[in-house]
Amino acid sequence: MEPILGIDLGTTNSVVAVLENGKPRVIANPENGERILPSVVGIDPAGELLVGTAALNQAVLYPERTIRSIKRQMGREIEVPLGESRLSPPEVSAIILRTLARWAEADLGRPVTKAVITVPAFFNDSQREATRQAGRLAGLDVVRIVNEPTAASLVYEPNCEQQQRILVYDLGGGTFDVSIVSLEGGVVEVLASHGDTHLGGDDFDQLLRSELVDRLEGSESGRGAAPLDLRGDVATAARLLRAAEEAKKRLSFETFTAVREEFLKSGDRDLHLETELERSDFEELIEPSLERTIQCVDRALEDARMHAGQLDRVILVGGSTRIPAVSQLLAARLEQQPSAEIDPDLCVALGAAVQGGLIAGEQVGRVLVDITPHTLGIRVLDSHDPMRSTTIFAPIIPRRTPLPAIRSETFQTAYDGQEAVEVEVFQGESREVERNQRIGSLMLEDLSPHAPEGSPISVRFTVNLNGIVEVRAVDRVTGQQAAARLQRGTETAADSDPAAQHRASQERLGNLLGESLLAAAGVSATEGQAQSEPSELAQAANQADVNQQEGGEPDERPAIGELRTLRAKVERVRGQASEADVQEMDLLLTKLREAADAEHEEEFKNLAAQLDDLLFYLDEA
Ligand code: ADP
Ligand code: MG
Repeated sequence: MEPILGIDLGTTNSVVAVLENGKPRVIANPENGERILPSVVGIDPAGELLVGTAALNQAVLYPERTIRSIKRQMGREIEVPLGESRLSPPEVSAIILRTLARWAEADLGRPVTKAVITVPAFFNDSQREATRQAGRLAGLDVVRIVNEPTAASLVYEPNCEQQQRILVYDLGGGTFDVSIVSLEGGVVEVLASHGDTHLGGDDFDQLLRSELVDRLEGSESGRGAAPLDLRGDVATAARLLRAAEEAKKRLSFETFTAVREEFLKSGDRDLHLETELERSDFEELIEPSLERTIQCVDRALEDARMHAGQLDRVILVGGSTRIPAVSQLLAARLEQQPSAEIDPDLCVALGAAVQGGLIAGEQVGRVLVDITPHTLGIRVLDSHDPMRSTTIFAPIIPRRTPLPAIRSETFQTAYDGQEAVEVEVFQGESREVERNQRIGSLMLEDLSPHAPEGSPISVRFTVNLNGIVEVRAVDRVTGQQAAARLQRGTETAADSDPAAQHRASQERLGNLLGESLLAAAGVSATEGQAQSEPSELAQAANQADVNQQEGGEPDERPAIGELRTLRAKVERVRGQASEADVQEMDLLLTKLREAADAEHEEEFKNLAAQLDDLLFYLDEA
């Protein structure tokens, strides 16, 4: 059976593991035995691509040719420079994933095409979708996106019979997550989840660097020298950051440490830093940050309607939980000693491998129940506003709802003869709609021109296990429907061509990584086609045949666009669907193509509605 890799794609570090004989094992770099791959990508002066430690090592010398913490940018439509190239965040992540997949292929002695990838529980849909995209670009079929704390809890409590309630505290380099997980008779359920996507060891490094700069300035001004300008020199700034991080790590094991950096540049001056840091100095610097994590812990407990005394266990995950102050603070606030038995750096990848094994059908005996990290809802008119000019957020699926989740709510038209409704979808916790994140919208058109104000429109949200939201609006009067799958939030341009974008990304990555990535991705695509779930490359080929009229220009007709969307949806559920359903979907796709070519609009609409219903039903299953 083909193994499914478990990958912790971290902000700072990434790890790959696999389940063997019911037990997860971390896979090391076959060349040097390293089990942690720094999530860093760079280009050396000769134009060679560097990944991991090699890239991290040059970060001090060539910060402008090194990309770190790309995970913070996932889900944003930006490009980052890397030497001559410009890469999207998923492209950079794909380089990291491909490197891990290569380690695994060398270790296992076979090609690997499937993976479970973890994300912070707080990641929104755009960030999750960007992570999937990164996997596909790396030639991996991403069989599941799993929340990091959920994965961690899977490793810690194998097969417990009585109910256990566990708090997972994950403090890494870039993100903080806390979740409360319930385990019982092989069922894992996340009861509550909170976090901060901008809190972690990176922040501690920055704080400590400022402290080092202050000390350097202090000693210089003591000598009556001019003020320092360390910001002008990126290499100096990067060296100080590196020194700060190393000192921070040492302070986890020692109560004080010496920091010595010679020949730092400030303008045309050489400076020498020599100082001693106390652990207590460092603790004082990070105290406000740790206090913020405790506030998240309190909120998670509140959401789970629990008090600290009801927790059976507290698990520490993430490199920054090695800081003694973290476990001390938690021990004091939660009145119990946290567990850190399983290496906090590897825990999440190990859990992802357990999840991969479960999906592959191996005997592990546990099921996951995930929750929605944010409330999902729509924009509506404020009924308390007599002027009817303000809008508010109307929640549909509350935060913490177990996945998969389906909820519907009925709303009303705003005036007589309203012919169209725009359903705007947001996620967040504020009643003020603008303070939440807009993740997309949907137009419901052709409503009855005779319907009075207040006619019912029902809106149904379905969130699947990967956190992807399907929204369907139905006009109760005419039966008119509209549906949309919101995956990439606001960033999805309606007219973008995913197949073409994918090819362009592949090309750019191919140029950087050489033939090997393309070859590896090519292998996975062929294998993927033979199996139930085709990889993105197979999908791209499918889409290309819809797209391309006998070697001509891309077909821009709306029906073809819709067919392309439907086809992509079919590919997404194909793996889970029964044979009969697959046959029916394929038949409908063929008929749709015929109807589109013959320009039978009515027929096309009718078939599309049938396929949409089938897809909706399959998605819920
Ligand atoms: P992420 O999940 O964000 O990729 P990790 O869980 O790998 O991050 O944690 C990385 C962070 O842990 C870095 O900021 C690193 O400096 C920090 N870290 C690693 N070891 C220690 C240590 N011994 N003491 C303090 N911090 C540490
Ligand atoms: Mg992590």
